[in-house]
Amino acid sequence: MKPRYQAVRGTRDLIGAEAAKLDGIIHSLSRWCARFGYEPIQTPIFEEEALFTRSIGGETDIVHKELYRFEDRKGRKLALRPEGTAGVVRAVVASGVFNQSFCQHHRYYYSGPMFRYDRPQAGRYRQFSQFGVECFGPTGGAPPLAFDDAEQILMVDRWLRESKCSPYALKLNSIGCPECRPAFVAQLQAAWRDHLAELCPDCARRLEANPLRVLDCKSEKCYSRHGEPPSTLATLCAGCREHHDRVTSLLTGSKVAFTEDPRLVRGLDYYTRTTFEFVSGELGAQSAFLGGGRYDNLVEDLGGPATPAIGWAAGLDRLANLVTDPVIIEPGEYATVSWSALLRPPERSVFFIFFSTAAEGALFPAIIDLKLAGVFANWGSPGEPLKKQLARAGKQNYPYAIIIGDDELAAGAAGVRDMRQSTQETVPFAGLVEYLQRKFAARPPES
Ligand code: AMP
Repeated sequence: MKPRYQAVRGTRDLIGAEAAKLDGIIHSLSRWCARFGYEPIQTPIFEEEALFTRSIGGETDIVHKELYRFEDRKGRKLALRPEGTAGVVRAVVASGVFNQSFCQHHRYYYSGPMFRYDRPQAGRYRQFSQFGVECFGPTGGAPPLAFDDAEQILMVDRWLRESKCSPYALKLNSIGCPECRPAFVAQLQAAWRDHLAELCPDCARRLEANPLRVLDCKSEKCYSRHGEPPSTLATLCAGCREHHDRVTSLLTGSKVAFTEDPRLVRGLDYYTRTTFEFVSGELGAQSAFLGGGRYDNLVEDLGGPATPAIGWAAGLDRLANLVTDPVIIEPGEYATVSWSALLRPPERSVFFIFFSTAAEGALFPAIIDLKLAGVFANWGSPGEPLKKQLARAGKQNYPYAIIIGDDELAAGAAGVRDMRQSTQETVPFAGLVEYLQRKFAARPPES
């Protein structure tokens, strides 16, 4: 008997083991991200079309060619979401969470279907699933932290390793900010304006309208010209250069292998500074399975207070071909607590207070080890004085604050302050995880 209906072109059915595989990855990643302080968020799969045009950009392939637009019965212009970030930012701005001035970081993870009207091929669908994360902060006008970029990338790298992922590589770039990008754009236009005939018709137009998009054009014709584009890294302003150097130094210090790829501009307009992509040769033509970057202006663009942010999204359909054994993580108390909303971090949690780049580098491995050991760790803005940061830790009910000032750094140790007893001990960095584990084990449950 011939079935009367088939799945629409570019969509597919996942039945039994295939569906379970995706569920397993989502489950593992959710718990992994919860350990890193991320809370779940769910947003609608359709939004006002203008949200995507404004945030992703009208000249991008995703909006210009691939958006599923429709009008509802009342003539509202809507679109199926092509990615998760725009909806999450809209929702978080609307929630008012950025007005909670005591908490400087807000982190969310999501998963679900995305829709892009692209030419279907192996690994590329019109409906596909993503798992993604977004980290907002520090709030309150503080500058973006390289620490947040490095942690988000390292979080992926460790999960892939723990889940025995097939061989993969990490590509990293910085595309600067509105201050330094014009210099790069001018170079790009000067280099390619005389070669318009060698570009596809879209890029010939985009070179004036939205030049960065020329770099990530998928057309073979343009791609062959991509051998010699000027590098975004060469035109970074001092602030973007310092940020990028700090990200690469934190990653190198944590033994995360990466290569810098000056062509990695990613296909969306909202990115600033850091962009990254995880790729695998095992996937064929569609080699990218996870991509992300910083978007420091989007929250403000969508009506929130100026707040830096960074996020990534993984394509689950592709990830499922690389990870057959996602790491199993026991549920911890962190899995169910929404501490930013409830003003209550899990009992096993610490708040790091530091002031310098040197402290940042020294602390990074300890923070990651702590999180992987199931202790929730958070931090504020290193630009704030000790008193203010301590007040934040107290207001948020963290049981311990870990302080690293110049003296502590010189001694290779941290000041561990018991926030409820108001006592403080000095503990060498090397023994910090073990010391805290002992403290938490001995701690009576809070009444
Ligand atoms: P992007 O936001 O385009 O970088 O997408 C992030 C990830 O989603 C990619 O690295 C892919 O793994 C996945 N992805 C994007 N588009 C598709 C598609 N059409 N079909 C399947 N997976 C996709």
